[in-house]
Amino acid sequence: MTGKIETVGIIGAGQMGSGIAHVTALAGYQVLLYDVSSERIEEGIATVSGNMARQVASDKLDETARQDALTRIAPAASLEDLSGADLVIEAATEDETVKRKIFAQLCPTLNPEAIIASNTSSISITRLAAQTDRPERFIGIHFMNPVPLMKLVEVVRGIATEDLTFEAARGFVERLDKTITVAEDFPAFIVNRILLPMINEAIYTLYEGVGSVEAIDTAMRLGANHPMGPLQLADFIGLDTCLSIMQVLYEGLADSKYRPCPLLVKYVEAGWLGRKTGRGFYDYRGDKPVPTR
Ligand code: NAD
Repeated sequence: MTGKIETVGIIGAGQMGSGIAHVTALAGYQVLLYDVSSERIEEGIATVSGNMARQVASDKLDETARQDALTRIAPAASLEDLSGADLVIEAATEDETVKRKIFAQLCPTLNPEAIIASNTSSISITRLAAQTDRPERFIGIHFMNPVPLMKLVEVVRGIATEDLTFEAARGFVERLDKTITVAEDFPAFIVNRILLPMINEAIYTLYEGVGSVEAIDTAMRLGANHPMGPLQLADFIGLDTCLSIMQVLYEGLADSKYRPCPLLVKYVEAGWLGRKTGRGFYDYRGDKPVPTR
């Protein structure tokens, strides 16, 4: 039986983990935030506090609700500290080895009734579930970035996911006031299966010299009515995450049309991962973003 969700453990306090903590705490859940780096936990909580302050400033939230939500977020020093959670959402780096190690360490002490969800952008939920002691209580809950602003959450069932787990995940997402789409468990699900090949093609367009960073982004903003250019969006997602998703598509679907652009690989090898490291297709270290090519 799957019980009521009151306490939510979040693993990974990066862009996504802190965003998930934000919306989960505002919806009234107790949140335990864990990261392998204690600095990232502190930074994550500071980000949540700052972003909620912005919501207060724009009258989307009142200060009391902000204070109450912040008191519901507690740092967790270890994975064992998540043992009493009813739902654990894994939002660590998009690397299957990292995620596998996390589940191996988490499961032995975690409440056996708890549901485990992964926020992975692309990795097979069925395969991740098989590495836990509870594939029937494992599910994909894939939030979009930035979590507080984006309405959609993709819910992905693994082959063994039970109906009760699915219903609990649906109830959780609805309480966050988000809209769900249900995706089958195939590489990169729906949004990234469509979005990432477009971003990768934009990088090929740059690589082959068809256009500059600015030309490509302007073309897609004004010519296809996209709110952000694809290279700006890639920087926003994180180029390491973009590369991982392309690799998952390439390997998972065994089709050469998904091969990651060598220029994307080069940016990742340089550590130019986009906004989060200050540089990607744009340089964010000055007052305004400057194209790097
Ligand atoms: P990020 O790099 O901002 O954060 C990842 C965090 O994971 C870091 O704080 C890192 O310290 C932590 N981490 C690494 N190893 C860990 C471990 N063993 N235990 C605990 N924490 C660990 O990345 P992100 O953008 O927040 O992505 C996280 C997950 O969310 C990935 O699976 C990604 O595919 C997915 N996702 C990302 C986006 C996006 O647009 N960036 C959107 C949807 C889903």
